[in-house]
Amino acid sequence: MQSASPAERNVLRDLVPTFDPIRLAARLLSPRASLGLRSRAMGLFDEPGLQRLVDAGCPKCGSVKLSFRTYVDGLVPLMGGEPIGRVKWVYDGEKFVDGVYRIVCLGCSHEIFAEDACPRCHAPRGLTRALETPNAWTVPSRCPGCEGEEVRYIAFLPALVTYEGKRADKAKSSIELFDDGFHGYRVDCRICGTVSERTDGCPLCDAPGPLRPRPD
Ligand SMILES: [Zn+2]
Ligand SMILES: [Zn+2]
Ligand SMILES: [Zn+2]
Repeated sequence: MQSASPAERNVLRDLVPTFDPIRLAARLLSPRASLGLRSRAMGLFDEPGLQRLVDAGCPKCGSVKLSFRTYVDGLVPLMGGEPIGRVKWVYDGEKFVDGVYRIVCLGCSHEIFAEDACPRCHAPRGLTRALETPNAWTVPSRCPGCEGEEVRYIAFLPALVTYEGKRADKAKSSIELFDDGFHGYRVDCRICGTVSERTDGCPLCDAPGPLRPRPD
């Protein structure tokens, strides 16, 4: 396998502005640990495949303008159980890759990659279930530790990221707290830290645990 040139690494760094390029490059270049979906911390879309895709562009028309759909982490500030601000993205590059479930060419609309398994736990048809069901996890009206009314609710949201050949746009999502597709899994308090986290099953599709680890 060839080493990535600095230019190739830049492509991926631009795709996701916040990740550590050295670490991801090392991951991209390492042989796949095992076959596909059962591998420990691997997403549905494998990273060498993503690297090749970004380098080559659309297999039909050659366009390098691509749209990625991915399930990633967003943080919503809550006051008394109600959202009081916009979603702030809190994912990094490895989580972005891990959550990818659809890639479409913006040049010719060719669907380059699509997977209906759950992006989090890989249960068959889990993606449809995740997108079509509302949040089933408790939205707290106050912190169980200090009783403060302001908490941070961390959730999985489906996001659209457009890649225009040179750099990626900011992730977009129109999903809000009470919409289908939004799935909370953690509550943080400014004073108490993390005060609850969903661990009994998959936050996205509700399949029973234990969940595979995500990349750090
Ligand atoms: Zn195309
Ligand atoms: Zn799942
Ligand atoms: Zn607290």
